[in-house]
Amino acid sequence: MEVKYHKLVGADFLQSPNGGDSITPKFLVMHYTAGYAAQSAIDTFRKRSSEVSAHLIIDTDAKITQMMPFNRKAWHAGPSVFRGVKNLNSHAIGFEFVNIGFLKKTANGFIDAYGSTVREDRFEDFVIAKQPIVGSGEYYWPVYPKAQIDAGLEAAKAIIEAYNIEGICSHEEIDTRGWKTDPGPAFPMKAFQNLLGAGRRDPTQASQNVPFNVDVSSLNVRGGPGVDWGVIAGLKRGDRVYAVNTQGNWTRVLYAGGEGWVSSQYLERA
Ligand SMILES: [Zn+2]
Repeated sequence: MEVKYHKLVGADFLQSPNGGDSITPKFLVMHYTAGYAAQSAIDTFRKRSSEVSAHLIIDTDAKITQMMPFNRKAWHAGPSVFRGVKNLNSHAIGFEFVNIGFLKKTANGFIDAYGSTVREDRFEDFVIAKQPIVGSGEYYWPVYPKAQIDAGLEAAKAIIEAYNIEGICSHEEIDTRGWKTDPGPAFPMKAFQNLLGAGRRDPTQASQNVPFNVDVSSLNVRGGPGVDWGVIAGLKRGDRVYAVNTQGNWTRVLYAGGEGWVSSQYLERA
């Protein structure tokens, strides 16, 4: 994917009337639509009276609809602060992933946030986690289909190549009112944040040798990018490494004492 004239090449473009002021994007904010279909989000964002919008809607089947050029403000983040920057709408690109969010399991099936009963077989799988914002006990969070996440990652990569993006955050973590729960525990936030560390093509960017922490109890360092390569060292949770480059799902890192390859999924941006 590629960004041209502030639009994602190949995506449908339907302009939302909500927003439009000029911005210089430096953050990506991740959301879920709290719905079942991309069309309902598209309809909402095209309605002026809704007073909401986002730059991208990413459907479960990977189809992407853009609703605002990336250099124009959309209304998705509400009252917000991230790394000392207030009002993220003025500084961020909003990604909306089609996903219903939290479900409560009952004897009669799943109940969604709107009080409707939904069949379990509608979903591939769930992450089970608490969310005190919405109530007590455990909630079932439908997983995001791989095709949808891959499309989101490709779009994020293209945007990172086109703009100076400094951070990727969830709506939940920036919402100053403490109401928001999206994109929730089923969303692979780390996979997106890792794009900033090692995914850039331009080696002259400051993203070279970006610091990460090991986020697993023990992590093998290998001589090359894959499990066929021998283990040359061991790292443990919290160890600091510096990403040099990536290949597939592997990252070449500098660590205290050497250099080698680790599985990217166990690295967290420091
Ligand atoms: Zn949101």
